[in-house]
Amino acid sequence: PLVLGIETSCDETGIGIVRGRTLLSNTIASSMDEHARYGGVVPEVAARAHLEALEPALRQALAEADVSLADLDAVAVTSGPGLAGALMVGVGAAKALAVSLDKPLYAVNHLVGHIAADILDADAEPLEFPTVALLVSGGHTSLLLVRDLTGDVELLGETMDDAAGEAFDKIARILGLPYPGGPEIDRAAAGGDGGVPGDPDAIRFPRGLSRASDLAAHRYDFSFSGLKTAVARWIEQREAAGEEVPIADVAASFREAVVDVLVTKALAACKDYDVPRLLLGGGVIANRRLREVALARAADAGVTVRIPPLSLCTDNGAMIAALAAELIASGRAPSTMEFGADSTLPITEIQVAPSDA
Ligand code: ATP
Ligand code: MG
Ligand code: FE
Repeated sequence: PLVLGIETSCDETGIGIVRGRTLLSNTIASSMDEHARYGGVVPEVAARAHLEALEPALRQALAEADVSLADLDAVAVTSGPGLAGALMVGVGAAKALAVSLDKPLYAVNHLVGHIAADILDADAEPLEFPTVALLVSGGHTSLLLVRDLTGDVELLGETMDDAAGEAFDKIARILGLPYPGGPEIDRAAAGGDGGVPGDPDAIRFPRGLSRASDLAAHRYDFSFSGLKTAVARWIEQREAAGEEVPIADVAASFREAVVDVLVTKALAACKDYDVPRLLLGGGVIANRRLREVALARAADAGVTVRIPPLSLCTDNGAMIAALAAELIASGRAPSTMEFGADSTLPITEIQVAPSDA
C-alpha cells in the first residue's frame, strides 16, 4: 500500500511516504534551532513550528515521491507519546486529510514507529523477531522486547528520570557547550578542534541503577539524574580548587558512563530472554561511541546489532508510514476518528482506536 505518514511528536515535522516496505520520500523540518537558546524543546514553540512546516513538508514529500494525494491508500499519524500540543497539530492534519480524501487513517505509537524504521533500510536483511530494541532520544530511553511489530511489544524498562539525550543536553550546558548537546559532547570528547582526545577512563562517573541492590527491581530501567549531579559536582570541585576543567576528559568519561549502562542493560535483556538480536533507534544513536561499544560488546555476546540509517533513527514520518503499512499488510482495520493526541500513550497500544476492536 502507498501510505503517507505524519510525525509531529516533538521538534521534527516529518512527512514520509512509503510503498509497502519501500521508502519513497522522507521530508523532515526541525525547529531545533528555535529551541537552542532555551537549552531544550519548548512545547509551544514546537507546536507553532509544526503548523508552519506541515504544508510545505507535505508538498515536498509528495513531489519527491512523485505521487499525488489521490494515489494514497492510507494516511498514518503519530498519536503519542510526545508533546500534547505538538501531537495535536499532526493529528488534526491527518484527520483532515483522511476525511477530505476519503482514505483510511491509521493512528500509531511513536515508539513502535521507531522500530518500524528499520524495515525501510533497503541495505539490510529483513528484520527478524523477536528482537530486543533500545530506543534512545531526547525524550525517551526505553528497552523493549518486540515479539511482533504489529501485535506484541513489551516494555522491559525505561528511564526513571532524564532521557539519555536530555542528559547529553544538560551536561553540554554545564560544560558551556551549545544545544543540542549530543554532537557537542562527541566533539569535545574527541578533543575539539585539533586537541587531545579525552580519556573515557579518566573519571569514574556513576552508572545509574547498576548496583546489585538496584538491579533486583530495576534490571532494565535507567537513571541519568545522579550522573548529571556527579558531573556537575566534579566540575564545581575543580573550579573551587582553582584548577582547569579538562573538558575532553569530562566529556569522554561522561559519555562512557551513559554508553556503558545503555549497552550493558540492553545486552542483559538479550541474554535473559535468549534473544540474539538488538535493534538500536532514536537520535542518540548518532553517538559514535555508543555504536562502537554496542557493536563490540554485542559481537562478544553473540548478538547481532541493527542500526538503521540515521535519517530513519531520528524522528521522521516515514517510520510512521512504515508501521501503518505493516498494520495494513497484517489485515488490521483503520483507526476510528475518535482518538486524540495522547502524550503518555503506552507502548502496548501499537495502533490507537482500531475500528475492529
Ligand atoms: P523523541 O524523544 O520524541 O524521539 P527528540 O527530538 O528529543 O524526540 P531525537 O530528535 O531523536 O529526539 O534526538 C535528539 C537527541 O539526540 C538530543 O537530545 C541530542 O542531544 C541527542 N543526540 C544527537 N546526536 C547525538 C550524539 N552524537 N551523541 C549523543 N546524543 C546525541
Ligand atoms: Mg528531535
Ligand atoms: Fe522519537
